[in-house]
Amino acid sequence: CCPICLDRFNNMAYLDLCLHKFCFRCIHEWSKNKAECPLCKQPFNSIYHKPTRALLLSIRDSDSESSLGEECGAVSQ
Ligand SMILES: [Zn+2]
Ligand SMILES: [Zn+2]
Repeated sequence: CCPICLDRFNNMAYLDLCLHKFCFRCIHEWSKNKAECPLCKQPFNSIYHKPTRALLLSIRDSDSESSLGEECGAVSQ
C-alpha cells in the first residue's frame, strides 16, 4: 500500500531516483512541501506515472516545458 495514506494505491506513481511508489496524488501533495522521498529521504526531480510513462511533474524547472520532450525520448512502444 501507499506509505503516505496507508491505503491502496490510487494512480500509482514512482520517483525518478529511488523508484519508491506512492499514489500520484499523495506524492504530488507531498512534493509541494519538499521534494524528497518520504521513505528514504532522497531528493527527487520528477514523479513518474506508470500508465502513460509520461513525465507529469518536473520539480526543478516547471516553467520550461520545452525540455521535457528530450528527456522522454527513450520511451519505446
Ligand atoms: Zn496514498
Ligand atoms: Zn525513496
